[in-house]
Amino acid sequence: MARKYQGHAVGIDLGTTYSCVAVWQEQHCRVEIIHNDQGNRITPSFVAFTENQRLIGDAAKNQAAANPQNTVFDAKRLIGRKFSDQVIQDDIMLWPFKVTAGVNDKPMITVNYMGQEKNLCAEEVSSMVLTKMREIAEAYLESPVKNAVVTVPAYFNDAQRKATIDAGVIAGLNVMRVMNEPTAAAVAYGLDKRTDYDGERNIFVFDLGGGTFDVSLLTIKGNAFKVKATAGNTHLGGEDFDNRMVNYFVQEFKRKNKVDINRNAKALRRLRSACEKAKRSLSFLVVATIEVDSLFQGIDFSSSINRAKFEEMNMDLFDECMKIVESCVMDAKMDKSKIDDVVLVGGSSRIPKVQQLLQDFFNGKELCKSINPDEAVAYGAAVQAAMLSEDIKNVPNLEPQNNSQLVLHNVPQLVLQDVTPLSLGISALGDIMSVVIPKNTCIPVNKTKSCVTSQDNQTIALIKVYEGERTRASDNNLLGSFTLSGIPPSPRCFPFSVVCFYINENGILTVSAKNNASGTSNKITITNHKERLSIEDIKKLIQEAENYHIEDKKFLRKANAVNALDDYIYKMTNTLKKKDINLKLSSQEIQLIEDAIAVAKNLLEENNKLVEIEVLEDHLEGLESRMKHIIAKTI
Ligand code: AMP
Repeated sequence: MARKYQGHAVGIDLGTTYSCVAVWQEQHCRVEIIHNDQGNRITPSFVAFTENQRLIGDAAKNQAAANPQNTVFDAKRLIGRKFSDQVIQDDIMLWPFKVTAGVNDKPMITVNYMGQEKNLCAEEVSSMVLTKMREIAEAYLESPVKNAVVTVPAYFNDAQRKATIDAGVIAGLNVMRVMNEPTAAAVAYGLDKRTDYDGERNIFVFDLGGGTFDVSLLTIKGNAFKVKATAGNTHLGGEDFDNRMVNYFVQEFKRKNKVDINRNAKALRRLRSACEKAKRSLSFLVVATIEVDSLFQGIDFSSSINRAKFEEMNMDLFDECMKIVESCVMDAKMDKSKIDDVVLVGGSSRIPKVQQLLQDFFNGKELCKSINPDEAVAYGAAVQAAMLSEDIKNVPNLEPQNNSQLVLHNVPQLVLQDVTPLSLGISALGDIMSVVIPKNTCIPVNKTKSCVTSQDNQTIALIKVYEGERTRASDNNLLGSFTLSGIPPSPRCFPFSVVCFYINENGILTVSAKNNASGTSNKITITNHKERLSIEDIKKLIQEAENYHIEDKKFLRKANAVNALDDYIYKMTNTLKKKDINLKLSSQEIQLIEDAIAVAKNLLEENNKLVEIEVLEDHLEGLESRMKHIIAKTI
């Protein structure tokens, strides 16, 4: 079957600390996680610059301690954000490399490369990591790789997604799709294909990595993946557990040898590396040993730690993880017994205590852990990449033999979809939010709406695009605005344009408007430089919208009452403008209309806060019944 994308297509998990690349192997009917030149299946998302070369991946990470200012990591924390963003300001304190504000408040990383100062944006650094992942795949596949599905956290906003695509483009990749990480993990387990459930399937994705913790609750219905809630802590993960162990052994070393290694960076680094190894083995063994030759002042260090001690020193952090799990389930307003699957992602989710606490929380539910947790995201991305490419040629006949999770035989179900988290629309007359794409619509989506003028002979219109659930447009998040000119003179309520909202597969929104009169020339696309809302903001807005529901209803009723009265004034004014009005109405009747217009206008002028809705509604009702017979004479 001919598909849109030719050649190999890979899945790339572009992680904060590690990245992973995978490919669907059609001849074996399975996903292959591709090892790098060091034989590792995950590659550090590190780029380093030295006097004579640039290093990426393991080579960059391995020399980090000796060249801290020029070894860049955590580009994912910077991507698509502004320098002044508080998150960036907080992170800067922790980074050994220099970050400054560039043009348009874009964060720029300064490094010294071959004796010269070089400024890099986050996209460039990420593109270097992506280039490395592409090369790893090309070496394995022995052919060029152009197409990739790249994963991003579910909470990534429009700007962050766009910037990730840009990084892919810089790396010479055609990013077929950016895919939400939890969605990819669910796909890896084939949870979207399971038939042992009715209608909806609720999936909880627990992602505990090296430096970040993310949980997401997804619902799969048909072929649509909906992110119901996300929660997390951007600075919680394996490195914190390592630090606890380092502190523990620093104290022990002090007790035994009466010297403090706390100020010696090199000794601390060597101890940290030994602790990380010990932590990993504690996931499989009950006791781990630590051996560091000549740790400090020629003193060798040798000790051991058991699993119980490791758990005790990290228990508050594990508890914090569980609180976040609980808050995510609560945010989704879902009873935890309704969760069908709990998926483990991220290397730190291997910690037995973490797994036990999670399993207890979900009333003993078996956790999905058969796929390597640090590979699950790339795995799902590779499946999606294959679906989108020609890699799976005989899809209808494909029944993987050894992997019951991958039942890739139903073509229509192969296209995975995410949904819009908030409604999108434009502001209509009276500041009313006129929804074009309702919340929870599957993407990609293309919808149009007709716009009408609000005044007679209006030649220019300002189209404001909002996202949110509030009835009053200006209570929502303004995404951008643009003007459309050249509207031919006409009475108000003239349908001057059709506004088109398009959200592509990557969740990126384009709004365009076409002037009906001039046909083509006034088409405008919003390139949204303002950042879209994060999932946190979205959650807040949805909550607010619920809280303000009554207020919103009141606002809508009042806006409608104002619009209706305003419309009636307009109708009466036009009646008086008719040429033969003096023949049809007596001067007394004309006076009556003029007085009615004045009173109604006065009411509207005061209306903003003071006049009650009922007063406006009653006034219009009375007016219509009084004027009905007079106006009828003029028609
Ligand atoms: P990720 O960011 O998902 O690649 O996760 C990396 C983190 O997982 C690092 O902090 C590792 O130390 C940690 N990790 C990897 N394997 C294990 C393991 N077996 N037990 C505990 N932590 C692990």
